[in-house]
Amino acid sequence: MKTFRVDLHTHTVLSPCGDLEMSPVNIVEKAKERGIDVLGISDHNSTLHAPLIKKLAAKENIEIMMGAEVTTKEEVHCLCFFETEEKLVVFQKYLDKHLPHIANDSDKFGYQVVVNEEEEILNEVEWLLISGINQSIDQLEKKVHELDGLFIPAHVNKMQDSIISQLGFIPIDLNVDALELTRHISKEAFLKKNAYLKNKTFIKSSDAHCIDLVGEVYTEFIMKEANFNEVKMALRNQEGRKVNF
Ligand SMILES: [Zn+2]
Ligand SMILES: [Zn+2]
Repeated sequence: MKTFRVDLHTHTVLSPCGDLEMSPVNIVEKAKERGIDVLGISDHNSTLHAPLIKKLAAKENIEIMMGAEVTTKEEVHCLCFFETEEKLVVFQKYLDKHLPHIANDSDKFGYQVVVNEEEEILNEVEWLLISGINQSIDQLEKKVHELDGLFIPAHVNKMQDSIISQLGFIPIDLNVDALELTRHISKEAFLKKNAYLKNKTFIKSSDAHCIDLVGEVYTEFIMKEANFNEVKMALRNQEGRKVNF
């Protein structure tokens, strides 16, 4: 077993709030500089940049977890990851079907662009990606697991856009693969107030929106190698794989 640096929360220039310098090339370069082994690509309600970043990162021996940070209709942010591009495409169709058709105002919210490895703009996403999709957190969880994905409510200790801020608590029967904490709280401090969650797996991530934050916060995973299945096993504490947090 080896120790790997895992940061599962990164936005790209496709997120309206993501800096323009958050291009696939720059993100991979920064992750490499920081010694990140596994990087999650999690734009708001879109997976469109993940496959290119996976391709570029493979050359640097960095494993990319392809997914999105989905906003449910309760305004809860959830990280969702998939193993293959086939499954990612199915999930993208689900997002397209359930995202409300509210036009993005780029002056107000920022640009939502898909670029290539030369940083040329390929297309601009028309609908505002920070809206909540028309699906509940339960419906989202079912969809993600139907596709054998990973479902991780994001920044659960945050006072906005989190499962606790929106629902008041984490339903004990909600099938989560892990819970993400922000960098601002320790697991011990969180569990002091939320002892009912003591058996859950926790991670922390950078939630980077600008290039200097990519990989700045990460969680150590103990695994055999860096791939989707090993990450899944570590989150589930299986066969010696685990999360050091
Ligand atoms: Zn968020
Ligand atoms: Zn985020």
